[in-house]
Amino acid sequence: MAPRKLAAGNWKMNGDLASLTEIDQLCKAHPEPGCDMLICPPALLVYPMVASAQTHALMVGGQDCHAKESGAHTGDISAAQLRDAGADYVILGHSERRADHGETNADVAAKAAAAHQAGLIAIICVGETEAQRDAGETLSVIGDQIAGSLPERSDSANTVIAYEPVWAIGTGRTPTNEQIAEVHGFIRRQLDGRTGDAVNLRLLYGGSVKPVNAAEIFAIPNVDGALVGGASLKAADFGGIVAALEAAG
Ligand code: PEP
Repeated sequence: MAPRKLAAGNWKMNGDLASLTEIDQLCKAHPEPGCDMLICPPALLVYPMVASAQTHALMVGGQDCHAKESGAHTGDISAAQLRDAGADYVILGHSERRADHGETNADVAAKAAAAHQAGLIAIICVGETEAQRDAGETLSVIGDQIAGSLPERSDSANTVIAYEPVWAIGTGRTPTNEQIAEVHGFIRRQLDGRTGDAVNLRLLYGGSVKPVNAAEIFAIPNVDGALVGGASLKAADFGGIVAALEAAG
């Protein structure tokens, strides 16, 4: 059976305890969502968000984790600590972490292996820069990221891939439907032949998804949901995207 579609929100370095009212509103508007509904807040808000979402169908995730389980790594948090706080998911290899922290595909794979070990579902992000797209390198960049960032035992139960063109993140620009379909189809083919049922894992599109363009994006083949930045901060906006995904079936 195909896994449920996923609407995932990435709050990045936004939000505080007062923002949990948005979670309350989101859960009240979608008490039994017809898709998986996830918010990844800053690490400090994971535990309080889990506590306030307890009676609702909202899952909570981290935005990064260390590859080691514990130790002398000041400022970092481990996958096991995220799990202990109640997280179900962790975003890994977001383009902002690849750019700001120099994360390589090998780093992402090591973190994803740690996430799997801790019982977290890893959302592994891939995507080309504008210069790479202009140079015709999109599929080779994505192919390298998929080959290098997924650990051995990645399957549909422990891994999600988010295709996020770097030039579409936070810019209001989105690829054409054909461009999204081309990359998602390419990723699906890359996963074919890997061990387990990797070919069935969920592929999210991310980059300037809003309530107004969500339905069109969800109608594209091989799009199993979205990873949403800016539009995940407000319950009404994210709820609109959840509703579009529910309608897409
Ligand atoms: C993101 O950063 O993962 C993202 C998709 O951001 P936005 O929706 O704001 O473009």
